[in-house]
Amino acid sequence: MISSSSSSPAAFVIGHPIAHSKSPLIHGYWLERYGISGSYRAFDVAPADLEAFMARLRGREFVGGNITIPHKEAVMAHCDVVDPLAGTIGAVNTLVRRGQEIHGSNTDYLGFLANLDAGAPGWDGDLKTAIVLGAGGAARAVLAALIARETSRIVILNRTPERAQALARDFGPSVTLGRLEDFAVFAPEAGLLVNTTSIGMGGTRFDDLPLETLGEGAVVNDIVYTPLVTPLLADARAHGYAVVDGLGMLLHQATPGFAAWFGKDPEVTTELRARIVSAMGL
Ligand code: NAP
Repeated sequence: MISSSSSSPAAFVIGHPIAHSKSPLIHGYWLERYGISGSYRAFDVAPADLEAFMARLRGREFVGGNITIPHKEAVMAHCDVVDPLAGTIGAVNTLVRRGQEIHGSNTDYLGFLANLDAGAPGWDGDLKTAIVLGAGGAARAVLAALIARETSRIVILNRTPERAQALARDFGPSVTLGRLEDFAVFAPEAGLLVNTTSIGMGGTRFDDLPLETLGEGAVVNDIVYTPLVTPLLADARAHGYAVVDGLGMLLHQATPGFAAWFGKDPEVTTELRARIVSAMGL
């Protein structure tokens, strides 16, 4: 058994499956860069084994870790404290053990904001309307982020209306709902377009999204990062809009966990990005 009560803190990422996770590469890079003698390892934990794994965390084998699919919701029941924002988002992706207490938070919304701040500085300066495509788990983190930056109107366009209605209920009056087909109705007012659907993965594209109807100077962000330049981003760039890819969100969401477990606020460097791009063959 690894003991994190020694001078060498141990952290983890759990999911099922887990082999695809890039988190060990990210945290491994920072551990090496800052010369920290700690560890970060991936564990494949099936849903039936989640409780037993959490007992290992509570028993001080680890200082904390990341949670990915399918445990992001279920793990909340095992936390002593859940950050209110993670409660609103409905998912926890980062755990920190404090003594025997487990604290859960969601860092995706911070990752989303830090990525836009780095990739399109000033993006929120004069932002009134943002369009969010999709209403799944990632959309909830993006909504929390946009509300934190006081975006006055957030238009959610989703294929399945019921899913979008649930978001409107949870996130309040700044949310307006529509279907993907309504894009051109809202686009002229929008200073930001964010894709949170899984369209874009593997190079897939939206059937009909008239990007040219977006407001002048709009920023287009795709949180899908496989490929790095999705068809949506390529089209947006061709239309002259500023574009931000989704890889930075993945890198930046990892920083609060690393800081809490290993005591060092890590930097998202171009070298780290290049390593992940190369490891993923992007
Ligand atoms: P999710 O909960 O399964 O939601 C998927 C969303 O995509 C739903 O809104 C769904 O619409 C929509 N969708 C899927 N196929 C569609 C299609 N053919 N036509 C129209 N809409 C479609 O997934 P998620 O967890 O939110 O993740 C979404 C994407 O974000 C994934 O690609 C994931 O890798 C990426 N992501 C990236 C980061 C990052 O750090 N960059 C973080 C989190 C997630 P319906 O409601 O109609 O089904």
